[in-house]
Amino acid sequence: MRRILAPVAVVIAAVLLMRAGHPRESVPLWPGARYTRQDRDRAIRRGLEFIYTQVATQPKYFYDWGHDLLTAFYNIAATSSDRELSRIAWNMGHERAREWLRLNRKLPDQLDSVWFTDLVFGMDSAERLGVSDPELRRKLTEAAAHFSAQDLWLFDPVVEAPPADIPRLCRKCGRQNVRGAKVCSHCNAPLQMRGRYDVFMDALITSYTGDIAGIRLGAPYAAVLKWAPAMRPYPSLGPTNEDEYYEGVYAATHLIYTYNHYSKFRVSSDCFPQEYQYLKSNLRIAAEQKDAETMGEYLDSLRVRNDPGRSAHPCRFRLPALLTEPGRQLGRPERPGSLRPLSPHMDGY
Ligand SMILES: [Zn+2]
Repeated sequence: MRRILAPVAVVIAAVLLMRAGHPRESVPLWPGARYTRQDRDRAIRRGLEFIYTQVATQPKYFYDWGHDLLTAFYNIAATSSDRELSRIAWNMGHERAREWLRLNRKLPDQLDSVWFTDLVFGMDSAERLGVSDPELRRKLTEAAAHFSAQDLWLFDPVVEAPPADIPRLCRKCGRQNVRGAKVCSHCNAPLQMRGRYDVFMDALITSYTGDIAGIRLGAPYAAVLKWAPAMRPYPSLGPTNEDEYYEGVYAATHLIYTYNHYSKFRVSSDCFPQEYQYLKSNLRIAAEQKDAETMGEYLDSLRVRNDPGRSAHPCRFRLPALLTEPGRQLGRPERPGSLRPLSPHMDGY
């Protein structure tokens, strides 16, 4: 679950923090609103400061979540329209990236698939934040040959859709059992299955990161993306399917996030009409439940058009043309102010 939940948390943090626009004193957020844009911007910076001082610089959290925190700092720096917020996030991220690389110079002797994936996530974000370690990149590139899609996800998207027979980790002993197992082979405890949407989202995020990092993580992003039509229709909320419902929502938002580089550019809603309609029709539930996390994902994913600050890219759903150049073209260190449109090759999505 670690790899699955973490990117969600990072995105939420990034989405909330990206909301800052240019400070305009005493301008209500909307007519009659209680708070002003200045209040909002101040709150966002306070939140970023909290993440840095209370989480990212705390060794016990940084050890486990450093790779995700670097991604959050980078995404905020790269997408915030508030230049000062962008600068602060980049500086925090750059400093943390140096520390992350210092801590991860050496690969562990027993490198499992989760650790390997986390290291690629962290290395990619560190490089985007202007810090690199060519030796670590070399080692991870070599290690990638030892991890197949089956090792990472227990299924291979090249040949099958996200399945519904992958057990969750055993609640009693933590073991990952083989597909289809109903009871744990170690402790005999009953097992629950992971939902298809959860499996799909995990594979989307991981394969996407592998593509942009230039290190294969399981399978190419295109191999996972092609199953998007098979995931439709997405689940509605019923009396007994809350888990499946939220996994459906997050799968839809992460389909869009990974497709538009976590809000680096806008895609036309024509690209994913079913997903947009699904998210739009479920927005009310998050509002009624005062679910700020999910609301952040909705707002970010649905802001696809009519955004004068960003151009809407045409949808070219040509799967084989995905990322035709090495990931490093996208991963060069970037500083706020020098961020540029993505390579034209990205239109091949
Ligand atoms: Zn067990």
